[in-house]
Amino acid sequence: MITDRDKVFLQMALEEAEMALQQNTYPVGAILVDDQYNVIAKGRNRVHTAKDATAHAEIDAIRNAGEAIFDAKIHNKAFTLYSSLEPCPMCTGGILFAKIQRVVWLLNDDMGFGGYQKMKDSAIFNTKFNRIEAIAEPDVELKNRQLELMRQWEQNSNHIQHLRSAGSVNV
Ligand SMILES: [Zn+2]
Repeated sequence: MITDRDKVFLQMALEEAEMALQQNTYPVGAILVDDQYNVIAKGRNRVHTAKDATAHAEIDAIRNAGEAIFDAKIHNKAFTLYSSLEPCPMCTGGILFAKIQRVVWLLNDDMGFGGYQKMKDSAIFNTKFNRIEAIAEPDVELKNRQLELMRQWEQNSNHIQHLRSAGSVNV
């Protein structure tokens, strides 16, 4: 289902997620790779570090790819986006706009804001989704590492539950 090369890039995405958690923001990382297995861009969540609700890992990677994305769109190059978590609706939209042709993520996000499967299943943008190969949860060990990062995130002072309870103390 995935190759050893895929696994290397998934590990890199996980390392970005770990860095995000170290910076006290949501632990998600993403790696964008071209059809020759070159890393085009890395991304990680920057919601709390940049105070930007839209600064998700996948969007960060697409932004960091800059002109390479347009070159890929024009020449129909098959880019792969690796993410440590299932893309949310916003990032799924970004993937469609960037015409990324393959998406691999470590952990489904049914309980959170996971949007890729829901948007695909809704049969909207069928022609666009049909051009993309999506691979969910291909590696149990790496999936569990992402799960552990999310468990740690729940303890983080920037987690919304902690921010809310901290706010309520002052009310
Ligand atoms: Zn997102």
